[in-house]
Amino acid sequence: MIIVLVIIVVLLALMVLFAGSLNIGWNLYLRSVNRLPGSKEEVMITFDDGPHPLYTGKVLDLLAERGIKALFFMIGERAVANPKLVKRVADEGHTIGIHSMSHTPGFTFLPAERVKSDLTACRQVLEEISGREVTLFRPPYGVTNPNIAKAVREMGLVCVGWSIRSFDTIIKSKNRVIKRVDKRLFPGGIILLHDSLPGSYEVVEGVLEMIKKRGLKTTVLK
Ligand SMILES: [Zn+2]
Repeated sequence: MIIVLVIIVVLLALMVLFAGSLNIGWNLYLRSVNRLPGSKEEVMITFDDGPHPLYTGKVLDLLAERGIKALFFMIGERAVANPKLVKRVADEGHTIGIHSMSHTPGFTFLPAERVKSDLTACRQVLEEISGREVTLFRPPYGVTNPNIAKAVREMGLVCVGWSIRSFDTIIKSKNRVIKRVDKRLFPGGIILLHDSLPGSYEVVEGVLEMIKKRGLKTTVLK
């Protein structure tokens, strides 16, 4: 009987640890910024997985037209391939963050030392191209674990999560993505979008419309 109870407790604990690694907002392994502290009327727009040679420029045009600043978590290899876009993001007043060198699923299973060397390489690339100091980090897939936490702590990075996930990489209909974000908007919310998709421009346009309708403004972490 006791053995059964022990097995149940261990299984439950493992489930919590696993779920915690998938839910960045739980702050189980690593403290993340998942909402803007004390904000009464601002939200923050964040983009993952760029810069993309076809879609990031269009998103930047739109943001410039509306005078909006955002946070771009870039993949190191894509930054190397598209340095002009990295420079443009920095020059237009947006913030750049680290999103790993190559964004492979295997990143999650790397030992702390290898996570650290990957993130260090990504930071170097982004800093060299942008000419800016880069201190913010978002883990690929939002997955955290003790190894990623250790590397992030040792490098003195700030981990940024989200509170409004658009699922723009999964949901096919742009209108449904926009509606999903609209339903979840609140002052202090951090919105997760991607600038690497064919529909990125339309989604951003719709989301900006919703933010305006709610009387909210946008801000960005520096
Ligand atoms: Zn990503």
